[in-house]
Amino acid sequence: MAEGKFRMTDPPRVTFLGAVRTVTGSMHRLDARGKTLLLDCGLFQGSRRESHQRNRNFPFRPRDIDGVLLSHAHIDHCGNLPNLVRQGFSGPIWCTPPTRALAAVMLGDAAKIQEEDAEYLNRKRKPGEPKIEPLYDGRDVYQTLIKLQALPYDKAVEVVPGIEATFVEAGHLLGSAMIHLRIDQRGRESRLTFTGDIGRPGTPLLRDAAPIPPADLILCESTYGGHTHEVVSETVERLGEVVRKTVERGGKVIIPAFAVGRTQVIVYFLRQLKSSGRIPDVPVFVDSPMSVRATEVFHAHVQALDEETQEFLRRHPDLFAPPTVTYIESVHESIQLNDRAEPCVIISASGMCEAGRILHHLKHHIEDKRNTVLIAGYQAEGTLGRRLVERYQEVRILGQTRQVRAEIVVLNGLSAHVDHPELLAMLQPLVERNPKIRLVHGESPRGEALAEGLRSVGFTDVAVPQVGDETAF
Ligand SMILES: [Zn+2]
Repeated sequence: MAEGKFRMTDPPRVTFLGAVRTVTGSMHRLDARGKTLLLDCGLFQGSRRESHQRNRNFPFRPRDIDGVLLSHAHIDHCGNLPNLVRQGFSGPIWCTPPTRALAAVMLGDAAKIQEEDAEYLNRKRKPGEPKIEPLYDGRDVYQTLIKLQALPYDKAVEVVPGIEATFVEAGHLLGSAMIHLRIDQRGRESRLTFTGDIGRPGTPLLRDAAPIPPADLILCESTYGGHTHEVVSETVERLGEVVRKTVERGGKVIIPAFAVGRTQVIVYFLRQLKSSGRIPDVPVFVDSPMSVRATEVFHAHVQALDEETQEFLRRHPDLFAPPTVTYIESVHESIQLNDRAEPCVIISASGMCEAGRILHHLKHHIEDKRNTVLIAGYQAEGTLGRRLVERYQEVRILGQTRQVRAEIVVLNGLSAHVDHPELLAMLQPLVERNPKIRLVHGESPRGEALAEGLRSVGFTDVAVPQVGDETAF
């Protein structure tokens, strides 16, 4: 890495550090005008050993970073910020107002997990082995939250002298934004757009993503490169069908979902299905303390939701908490769900089945063929969720081997990410300017498939970078 070699007169340069040929740990470094900014600072999620090593060690000195621009509050985009602060970063962190509110919920929860994780590993530690420190704790989260500076959508703000940032709607999560930067380099203007994660058009609750702002360099997500989702309305029909079929055979529907974002969308769909009589009157349990707090943030930031939802909320203030939905906070009530004999829907975190209460629900329900496990979000390599998608007959859950007898249904149409044709349609209007496009946030085959698609419509400078690669613009 060209540490310290960057000069004021050099053209701006991006170094790709995380969510490179994978989907977690989003982090890129921008050197421009003698300053160093980070785009996102997310947690890498994978095997324990690799995550530990990747998250703990930054490929730069945190105190050399002048500021962070944050695309949204998902933990793989913001989850390593408290560690950055713990290791000496003292600058501002810019994001949208809803992202600031959601980040408080997400990071508080992440600190608890880090602390519990360290405690667990220390208990299992052999005599003589060094004690494991959590990646960060509640104090680091507090120190991080006070650095968050909320900037409104669609307003260019000079974040450091000569660099203007604009947050533009990304339609992926409440508060999610594409980050557009205009850098004035001694009379020469360079522009950069980082898409963060982009949501599907027509996703309920959220506004649709705005057009991708034209730039000289575009860092674009590629989660579903080469893949076409079902249309949203068909997906909702299939969701209804899955619930009906499972209830008819006396089973339960278990849905792993991230507490923030997917959970609220699924609750919304189930409500629609029920009010139109397309699913029977089964109880729905949202088993995640974080979902409760996240749902409160949705209520507090109604103006960032789409028009239709705002209108619906005026008539039905109980949008996220209709009478048939029960939010569960206590562990005791969570455990009681396992003893329920009657059909129901259980939505629980984490979304990739790597941690949290969903593991207990899977352990108890996966061997009963009356049940359904409904996968509604992206499952990264190496996760239990990915093994279910790949139809493993046998899986390890919480240290025990379980036969997969429940029906596994994958509904990618509920995804929070655009698919291949949707992304092409968003980028195509920019083809005349022929910007440099670097594809991030996608496993290699996905990124390569999207790169191929982009070349076929006329973009000539498209690449899927490796970790540590740099692009000047
Ligand atoms: Zn995301």
